[in-house]
Amino acid sequence: NTSIVAIVGRPNVGKSTLFNRLVQRRDAIVDSVSGVTRDRHYGKSDWNGKEFSVIDTGGYAIGSDDIFEEEIRKQVELALEEADLIVFVVDVEQGITPMDTEVAKLLRKVKKPIFLVVNKVDNAMRENDALEFFNLGLGEYYTISSINGSGTGELLDAMAIKM
Ligand code: GDP
Ligand code: MG
Repeated sequence: NTSIVAIVGRPNVGKSTLFNRLVQRRDAIVDSVSGVTRDRHYGKSDWNGKEFSVIDTGGYAIGSDDIFEEEIRKQVELALEEADLIVFVVDVEQGITPMDTEVAKLLRKVKKPIFLVVNKVDNAMRENDALEFFNLGLGEYYTISSINGSGTGELLDAMAIKM
C-alpha cells in the first residue's frame, strides 16, 4: 500500500517548496483538488523504490488570526484523516512562532509518525539556530533546505522506515 505523507505548517515556512522538491524526484503527477476550505495539491514520489503520495495542504493568505487558527486546525485535521505520516514544517529564520506552538500542541496528541522539519537551514551556521525547536516538545527534528536540497535525503531515509 502506498503511504500518504501530509505536509503541514503555517504559511511561508516552505511547505510547497518541499512538496515540489519531493515530487520532482520522478515525473510527478500533480493535480489540484479544490476542497471546501482550501486547495490541496497531491503528488506522487518514491524513495529507494518505495512509492508514496504527498499532500501539500496549501494555505491562504492570512486574513485575521482567528481565520488563520481555524485554517491551521482544519489543515491538521485533514492531515490526520488522510495521512499515514505527517511532516510538520517550521522555519529557522522565524524561529518558533505562536502558531507553531499551536500546531505542535495538536500534533502531540497524534499517534501517527510525525517528522518535525526545520526548513531554511541553508548553511551550517543555521544548525545552531535550529536547536530552539526542541522546545516544541516533539522530540528530534530534521534540518533541511528545501531550496538547495540539503538534509532531504536523511529526512526521506527516516520517513521510509515508517512507510
Ligand atoms: P509555504 O507557504 O509553506 O508553502 O511556503 P513556500 O514554499 O511558498 O515558501 C515560502 C518562501 O520561503 C518562498 O519565498 C520560498 O522561496 C522560501 N523558502 C522555501 N524553502 C526555503 C529554504 O530552504 N531556504 C530559504 N532560504 N528559503 C526558502
Ligand atoms: Mg504553499
